[in-house]
Amino acid sequence: MRPECKMKAKELYECFKCGSRRETGGTCECGGALQHLGRSRDL
Ligand SMILES: [Zn+2]
Repeated sequence: MRPECKMKAKELYECFKCGSRRETGGTCECGGALQHLGRSRDL
């Protein structure tokens, strides 16, 4: 019942420009830079 328990440990990136989130870094489809948000898993 804990949502944060079984989540996959994926890297998460958010577009600085449009706010779209992706699992891969680099450049967004809109041309904005993707900034790293960190892992979804607690250490
Ligand atoms: Zn974007």
